[in-house]
Amino acid sequence: MTVVIVGGGIGGLTAALSLHAVGVPVRVLEATAQLRPLGVGINLLPHATAHLTELGLGKALADTAIATSEVVHLDRFGNEIWRDPRGRAAGHNHPQYSVHRGDLQQILLDAVRERIGPGTPSLGMRVLDTRNDTHRAVCRVHNRRTDTIEEISGTAVIGADGIASAIRRTLYPHEGEPLWGGVRMWRGTAAARPFRTGSSMVIAGSNHAAKFVMYPVRPRAGEDGKSLINWVAEVRTDRPGAAPEWNRTGRLADVAPHFTGWHPAGVDICGLVAATQHILEYPMVDRDPLPRWSFGRITLLGDAAHPMYPVGSNGGSQAILDARALAESFAATPNTGEPASIDVPSVLADYQSRRLDSANAVATANRDIPMDRVLRLVAERAPHGFDAITDVLTAAEIEALGGSYRHTSRG
Ligand SMILES: Cc1cc2nc3c(=O)[nH]c(=O)nc-3n(C[C@H](O)[C@H](O)[C@H](O)COP(=O)(O)OP(=O)(O)OC[C@H]3O[C@@H](n4cnc5c(N)ncnc54)[C@H](O)[C@@H]3O)c2cc1C
Repeated sequence: MTVVIVGGGIGGLTAALSLHAVGVPVRVLEATAQLRPLGVGINLLPHATAHLTELGLGKALADTAIATSEVVHLDRFGNEIWRDPRGRAAGHNHPQYSVHRGDLQQILLDAVRERIGPGTPSLGMRVLDTRNDTHRAVCRVHNRRTDTIEEISGTAVIGADGIASAIRRTLYPHEGEPLWGGVRMWRGTAAARPFRTGSSMVIAGSNHAAKFVMYPVRPRAGEDGKSLINWVAEVRTDRPGAAPEWNRTGRLADVAPHFTGWHPAGVDICGLVAATQHILEYPMVDRDPLPRWSFGRITLLGDAAHPMYPVGSNGGSQAILDARALAESFAATPNTGEPASIDVPSVLADYQSRRLDSANAVATANRDIPMDRVLRLVAERAPHGFDAITDVLTAAEIEALGGSYRHTSRG
């Protein structure tokens, strides 16, 4: 009855915990030989923190993450264009969290090892491809420890192996590389003094030219009063085409010139970037929405199913919603305890019907980057700043900003 989950990232580990919670045995295969706290900041929206709380992780998250209280758009001079309360401040039952991806993965990993077993996930197991067999789904796996190819089968295979998914490639062999729209992204974390509420996400500029996003990811301010600030710099180039290399080391000299003189929320952007020990560079990529994720006993979850631009803080949250829906689909099916009694292809079809349309809708809304049209207007109409945003935008244009957020941050 074991379900094989390919990938021990945010989606795969949450799926493991969710399936375990409804009595479904799992095995997680992770390609890396050692799970290290990689990445920088990630956001969890209230619909995702609700599920992590159901899984008993609410306290660990509250102790580790920042409960985001507002998102605010500023122009490059720091003038406020639009703000929206977030999480509990917006009336949700659960917080929105800003958290270091490594901290989040560690919380999930600790819970997986405690509940499922210390050997989960199986590390150094790179899945090459998968196929449906009569009563099983089978993965071909490169075991990096023994340098051998093994076959590992389960009653189902869940491809939670991220944007470069081998499982997706098996199902859609002609799809090719992720799609790049021309925005280069640099990311990093640096210690800096808290700004605004101390739990604010600040977005300055727009993807039309250059945009800077920053938010704190660890609550404990150091003795010097500083906390760990995550930042993302996004710059549009006019030469799309092949995406730059993924996850390479970024250079200060590439980022800083785009943000000279920017001081949103009183933060010296060039100083923040210069204080960053390790700058990462990623292209902003996604893939076209798929018409189908589930094929017999094989399905996709998280970025493998619906990679999206990081526009509405929703990529990790959508993976967590997938995990919950998958477990609900297993829990809803008649089960006599005999493995053969479960119609797994129907379970995976049910999971797909719960999630595919809404996840694809979020990915499509993110691609449009709708708030950018309005932010571009601000830059054009008030190139030297403004006193009141109502002097620059009409009420309808301000309302459009809120509407675009509702599309990209929905559950
Ligand atoms: C190293 C890394 C750093 C990231 N940093 C950030 C960040 O700073 N901020 C942010 O918002 N998002 C980040 N992301 C993306 C973010 O985690 C996802 O968008 C989101 O959480 C959805 O998670 P996922 O589990 O679907 O995919 P991912 O988090 O990408 O996890 C996929 C997992 O599958 C494993 N894997 C891949 N191929 C195979 C294979 N063939 N066989 C077995 N295992 C495989 C990967 O090693 C990884 O552990 C990062 C992802 C990774 C992998």
